[in-house]
Amino acid sequence: MPYKWLNAVQTSLYPPICLLCKAPGTDDLDICTDCMEDLPRITQACRRCAIPLESSRVELCGACQHEPPPVDNALAAYLYTFPVDRLITELKFRGKLPYARLLGRLMTESLIDSITELPEYIIPVPLHPWRIATRGFNQSLELARDISRYLQVPIDIDSVRRTRHTPPQTGLPEQERQKNVRRAFDIRPTLSLDHVVIVDDVLTTGNTVREMARMLKRSGVKRVDVWVLARTAAS
Ligand SMILES: [Zn+2]
Ligand SMILES: [Zn+2]
Repeated sequence: MPYKWLNAVQTSLYPPICLLCKAPGTDDLDICTDCMEDLPRITQACRRCAIPLESSRVELCGACQHEPPPVDNALAAYLYTFPVDRLITELKFRGKLPYARLLGRLMTESLIDSITELPEYIIPVPLHPWRIATRGFNQSLELARDISRYLQVPIDIDSVRRTRHTPPQTGLPEQERQKNVRRAFDIRPTLSLDHVVIVDDVLTTGNTVREMARMLKRSGVKRVDVWVLARTAAS
């Protein structure tokens, strides 16, 4: 109740305006109908890594057929391309937290029809405390809030911790990227869950979520899915 009331107050004071073209927003969101329709949605993708596929007749990409990842099911809402990349950059690197509300809602609306089984918990990819201290928030947690509320599935931010302050993945060769995330997470030993979903903002090589999924499975979780806002077209 208080949440809805707060939303109503917010709307009357600040009518929603499209963050992309400044037209009036739609559905109480800071995006207009035209811009929303133009967003690069992913329609067919690999079931386990969410990479876009050209044919709907195959369920898995070549890489996942060759070596199945520890992720059971991966869903990505949008392609990591314009304007989604711009909106994510504004959120992450310019600290524009209001963008999280829009992006979180878009992620929910885009993924909701593809979710077949509810997990017990949603686990946002944790950031190292140093990163949180400089950014002020964890974007994966902020994105996870809307879908958690919609599905009534709680968020768990205690079971997985980032133990190493890893340098950014971009620009590193593949082997270095894999080394970079190895043992970057610490899983709470008392964790006893069957099915969890990892939420992240962008999926690129997938090394980070694969490592997290691998460690969750090693600690006894039977099924680990991944939901992301955006996916690059190639790993
Ligand atoms: Zn617009
Ligand atoms: Zn795949």
